[in-house]
Amino acid sequence: MAEFSIIDTYFNRQSTDVDLGVGDDSALLSPPCNQQLVICTDTLVAGRHFPLETSPHAIGWKSVAVNLSDIAAMGAKPHSILLALSLPQIDHSWLKDFSQGLYDCCDQFGVRLIGGDTTQSPHLTITVTALGWIETGQAVTRSDAQVDDLIVVSGTVGDAAFALEHLGHPLQQRLDYPTPRCELGMLLKNLAHSMLDISDGLAQDLGHILDASGVGASLNLDQLPINAALHSLALEKQWEYALSGGDDYELCFTISQQNYQKLLQLQPNVKTTIIGKIKAQHGLTFEKDGLDHPLHFHGYQHFA
Ligand code: ADP
Ligand code: MG
Repeated sequence: MAEFSIIDTYFNRQSTDVDLGVGDDSALLSPPCNQQLVICTDTLVAGRHFPLETSPHAIGWKSVAVNLSDIAAMGAKPHSILLALSLPQIDHSWLKDFSQGLYDCCDQFGVRLIGGDTTQSPHLTITVTALGWIETGQAVTRSDAQVDDLIVVSGTVGDAAFALEHLGHPLQQRLDYPTPRCELGMLLKNLAHSMLDISDGLAQDLGHILDASGVGASLNLDQLPINAALHSLALEKQWEYALSGGDDYELCFTISQQNYQKLLQLQPNVKTTIIGKIKAQHGLTFEKDGLDHPLHFHGYQHFA
């Protein structure tokens, strides 16, 4: 019975705009006309995807945020989430803070918790599935980058990787409380040719766009948007964080020059920076003194 009291106490807030939410065998939603369902899932394992000492509030926030980031990266509007929670034991103070962090992220982005599963297991594991909607055919995928597109990223990159190595630094906020770029993602649905969110490092993730689109890219490393808190580090070290560091959950997209101007006129709520250009020739290079050099940076490997 403990399972039902956990659900009732912590995960059963009433949600609007849902035909049937938590409490029955399944949830029921009415899809809006002429829209596609956008759906994704991400698991966070304690000690693997966040340091063991991470606050339960941050774990709750992050488990939602990383999924809303995937919805944003398609250009879609997030709608709801499901939560599969595996707990080593029942700790009411932990559950109270975790559920508060989860609902805080949901509330900030207009998302409801509509169901889930609660089990006991030796390892704390949190799997969130997120659902969103997008007008049929308008999703921005990874596979349509065009030669001469600008490559653009939101916010700053490398913050979370730096914070992971310097726990207690103010930038830990970026590691613990990533901001899914939902508004920017939705603005880009009619403008960007390709897009993804950066979870495993800019160089590796941009590589997915290049592979899927059958193109290459040249980056201008001097333009990488790097947090001022990292500017005292050697340039090479800054680039390493920016290119290989994971967990930033910024958007990386490719867009025509003309559409980028249109985006700026819409005044997105986050800074965007042009960091390079899509080329016909395969491979990832960086430009220095007018010449292109191959770029060798690797991102996070889950089974390394
Ligand atoms: P069943 O046994 O039919 O699979 P459960 O007993 O697992 O159902 O869950 C009962 C209800 O509570 C369901 O509506 C389910 O979606 C919801 N639920 C279970 N765990 C969670 C959770 N961690 N967060 C939100 N809803 C949950
Ligand atoms: Mg059932």
